[in-house]
Amino acid sequence: MRCEGYRRYGGVFTLGTPHWEQCGNDASVLLTVEQDGKVSEDLPMCDVCWEEGRQAKINIIEAKPLL
Ligand SMILES: [Zn+2]
Repeated sequence: MRCEGYRRYGGVFTLGTPHWEQCGNDASVLLTVEQDGKVSEDLPMCDVCWEEGRQAKINIIEAKPLL
C-alpha cells in the first residue's frame, strides 16, 4: 500500500509554483489523524512521514501497524 504522505517541493529558492508530491514509500502504519478540526481515518503512512507528522504537531489519534 502506498504512503499517503505529501511533501511540498519548491518554495523560496525555486522558480515556479511550489507543488505537493505524494510520498513514494510503502506504508507501514494506518494513522487516524486530526487536521484543521477534521478527522481522517486509516491513512496509509510510512515510518518517515509518521515521524514528520509528529514533528509537525499533527494530532495523531490512533496508529495501527500494518503487517
Ligand atoms: Zn511516506
